[in-house]
Amino acid sequence: MAEKNDLMDKIVSLCKRRGFVFPGSEIYGGMANSWDYGPLGVELKNNIKQAWWSRFVKQRDDMVGIDAALIMNPKVWQASGHLQNFSDPLVECKKCHMRYRQDKLPEKCEGCGGKEFSEAKMFNLMFQTYIGPAQEQANVAYFRPETAQAMFVDFKNVLDTSRKQLPFGIAQQGKAFRNEITPGNFIFRTREFEQMEIEYFIKPPQNDEDWNNVFEMWRGEMKAWMTEVLGLKWEHVHELEVPKDELAHYSKRTIDFEYHFPFGVSELYGLAYRTDFDLKNHMESSKQDIRYTDPQSGEKFIPHCIEPTWGVDRSVLAVLCEAYDDSNPENIILHLPAKLAPYTVAVFPLLKNKEQLVGKAREVYKDLQKHFNVAWDDRGNVGKRYYSQDEIGTPFCVTVDFDTVEKDDCVTVRNRDTKEQPRIKISELADYIKKSLQ
Ligand code: ATP
Repeated sequence: MAEKNDLMDKIVSLCKRRGFVFPGSEIYGGMANSWDYGPLGVELKNNIKQAWWSRFVKQRDDMVGIDAALIMNPKVWQASGHLQNFSDPLVECKKCHMRYRQDKLPEKCEGCGGKEFSEAKMFNLMFQTYIGPAQEQANVAYFRPETAQAMFVDFKNVLDTSRKQLPFGIAQQGKAFRNEITPGNFIFRTREFEQMEIEYFIKPPQNDEDWNNVFEMWRGEMKAWMTEVLGLKWEHVHELEVPKDELAHYSKRTIDFEYHFPFGVSELYGLAYRTDFDLKNHMESSKQDIRYTDPQSGEKFIPHCIEPTWGVDRSVLAVLCEAYDDSNPENIILHLPAKLAPYTVAVFPLLKNKEQLVGKAREVYKDLQKHFNVAWDDRGNVGKRYYSQDEIGTPFCVTVDFDTVEKDDCVTVRNRDTKEQPRIKISELADYIKKSLQ
C-alpha cells in the first residue's frame, strides 16, 4: 500500500510539475481540495469529453444533447428527492470535532487519535445560494448536485423539438456541486466536478427482460469506453452489482464500475435503472403533461429510464494512473491513448541555431497544427526533448535534420511506445499520424 500511495504522490507531483493539475488558489495558500486544470490538463480533459460526445451523441441516431443551467428551479430538487434524501451521515470526533462521513469512518480520529464519535446527523450535500440581493428563504436556490435532472425536466421540450422516438437518450456534460463531507484523493472526490450523463428512455417494460436488455447494452458500451477509449485494462476494473437492500431509492438495479486506484478500489462510473421515478415525479410536481405519445398507437405514457453516468475528473485520474510508467525513473512515460494525449505530436529542429533547420521545422509545425495539437521544442538535445514529451504522453516526436532540407524532404518520426524511428515524407506525415488516431 505504501508503494501504491507513493504512486499517487508521483502522479500528483507530475501533474503539478508539467501543468496538468495545480492546487486551486495556490498563491493565497490554496483552498482545501480545490484543483485547477492547467494547460495540459485541460487538453486531456477536453479530449476525453470530446471523445465521449462524439461516441455517444454524434455517432448515434438515438441520442441528442443538451446544456442546461447549473442553478435550476428549487422545485426540481423537491421533486427529485434531493432535498429530502441527498444526504450523507455526518459524525464528529468528540475530542477535536473533526468531521467524517459515517460510512468512511476510520477506527481512530485522524486529527487527534480519539476513538469517540458523535451520533450520526444527516447532512444535505447540496450547495445553497440566494437568487437576487435579498438573502431570504423565498430566494434560496441550489447548485445542481448532478446533471441528470435537467434531462428529465427538459424531456418534453427535447421530445417536441427533436421528434425522437423511443428508445432514445438525452446526454449532457457539465459541472455538478456537492458539499462532500470528506473530499480527497486529489481529483477523485471534490466539491465541484464534472459529469457526463445519459438518460436513456424506453417504453414501460412488460417484463424484466425488456429493461435488462437495454441495461446490458449500456453495460457493454461502458466497458468498451473504458477499454477502447480510455485504455484501461479490464482487470483493473471491478463491476460491483449493488445489493438490492443498498440500492438508491429510485433504482431497481445499479452497477458501480470501480477502478483499482492507487488508494484503493473506488467508484469510477455508475449504471442504474431508474424506472419511471423521475419523469413521474416531475409530472406530478409540475402538473404538466410530459408524457410520450406513441406515434403508432397514439397511446400516452411515461417512459422508463436507464442511466449510465461518468465522472470526468475520475476519468482523467484513471487514465493518468493507467498510463503512468516509471519503470525507468530517468525516463517517465505516460502511455496515454494517442487520441487523448494533450499533444499528438511534437516538432523539433535538430539544432536550434541553424536557420535552415528551424525554418523548415516551423513550416512542418504550422502545417501539422491544422490537424493536431502540436508542441514545439528546440531546447537542449533531441534525447532530452524525447524524455520531456514522453513524460506528458506525446505519442510522436518529429525531428527535422540536415537530410530533411538537403536530401529527402523526410523527417524522423519517433514513436513514444515502440521507440521506432521511421523516416516519413513530409507530404505523408499528417496521414501517417492520423492513422494512429483511428
Ligand atoms: P460516491 O459513492 O463516490 O460518492 P456517487 O455514487 O454518489 O459517488 P453518483 O451520484 O453516481 O456518485 O455520480 C455519478 C458519477 O459522478 C460518479 O460515478 C463519479 O464518477 C462522479 N462523482 C460523484 N461525486 C463526485 C465527487 N465528489 N468528485 C468527483 N467526481 C464525483
